[in-house]
Amino acid sequence: MQSHSDIIIVGGGPVGATLALALADTPFSVQVLEARTDLSRATHKRTLALSYNSRLILERLGIWDQLQAVTAITDIHISQRGGLGMSQLTAAEESLPALGYVVDYAELDAALHDALRQTATQVVTGTRVTDIQTNTGYAQVQATRGNDTHHVTTRLAVVADGGAGQAQRVTQEYDQHALLATVTTELAHNGRAFERFTPEGPVALLPSGTGFALVWTGTPERVAALLALNDDDFLHALHQHFGDRVGQFLTVSARSSFPLVLRYAKNTVAPHQVLIGNAAQTLHPVAGQGFNLGLRDAWELAQIVRDSTKHNLGDARMLQQFQSQRRSDTGSSIFFTDMLVRLFSNNQPVLKHARSLGLMALQYLPPAKHFVARRMIFGARA
Ligand SMILES: Cc1cc2nc3c(=O)[nH]c(=O)nc-3n(C[C@H](O)[C@H](O)[C@H](O)COP(=O)(O)OP(=O)(O)OC[C@H]3O[C@@H](n4cnc5c(N)ncnc54)[C@H](O)[C@@H]3O)c2cc1C
Repeated sequence: MQSHSDIIIVGGGPVGATLALALADTPFSVQVLEARTDLSRATHKRTLALSYNSRLILERLGIWDQLQAVTAITDIHISQRGGLGMSQLTAAEESLPALGYVVDYAELDAALHDALRQTATQVVTGTRVTDIQTNTGYAQVQATRGNDTHHVTTRLAVVADGGAGQAQRVTQEYDQHALLATVTTELAHNGRAFERFTPEGPVALLPSGTGFALVWTGTPERVAALLALNDDDFLHALHQHFGDRVGQFLTVSARSSFPLVLRYAKNTVAPHQVLIGNAAQTLHPVAGQGFNLGLRDAWELAQIVRDSTKHNLGDARMLQQFQSQRRSDTGSSIFFTDMLVRLFSNNQPVLKHARSLGLMALQYLPPAKHFVARRMIFGARA
């Protein structure tokens, strides 16, 4: 571990590793401090729906072609259980080859670290950051490695720890858990993803290989009961819940679950420090926005760092520029996902009719559909 680096990235998950790679050809020295001792063990076991815009970022970094297990999403079918109205977003209508892609978190993480090994960037594993203090002109990062405590100084500490650290955040509980699994179905997906809203919470089927990645949200009690079912009973319950659009559900993998919260920092910058990715905002997984937003954080921060000098790196002006540049994208993504969850996760008759009208309007008003599709693919700065 070096005792000083121009930039220290706390956390080498996909957001921190993307930033490190985007900075690899700059004159700045960069160190990534990562808590995992073994980088081949990914922090999360999940699939990620990446937007087409995220593909463009990963292409520029030379990562895209390294990913093997990629499934294109060519259309998204949106509906609500027990209510009229549905909408379908298609890549053809947006004149794109795909609306997005389903990739494996672990494979993406591994590809980013393989690429980082070809650069001069130091990734220090088994190192957990425990504190960051600011002094005049620099930040001091305290980290433990084995039984040792280290202090490293930097002009810019970028916190990309996934939200594990102590930064002040607003937290809103959803009283929902997400159940994750992969399933195979009677009918082929043909590149179609499904987002089905139910009063318990949304259920998403993302095309993945020859099956689907399932994200089923419900109350903690309901998800616990679903985890406890044997496979046949689980597949039957899923069919009851989701309906017939993919025929029968045939097989299910091991299942896991996560509590869902909205957590975000009102202020993502402090002297010589900045939060990005899930450290800055953790969203509900509805509409698969979280990592895409974090990737845009990393990409835009890298562009601002590129325009900086060693003299102004991490100063208040630079960080304020980053915060104000990201504000509308972050704010509207938080609003969009939170609104979807709250608007759809209930049984109120008036809201049910309003939702039906909304889905029909989305289907039959091309400008509205185009706006939503571009917003989901490219973010607020589309
Ligand atoms: C059920 C579910 C489904 C999701 N689906 C999607 C989707 O389809 N599309 C999408 O865009 N997003 C999705 N997300 C969100 C996505 O997983 C996150 O946005 C993404 O993982 C954030 O990446 P990150 O690098 O910021 O954080 P993380 O992936 O959490 O990585 C943080 C890294 O920091 C390290 N670390 C932690 N603490 C320390 C420390 N103190 N010192 C050093 N290192 C540390 C960890 O070891 C880890 O490597 C989903 C989330 C959930 C819960």
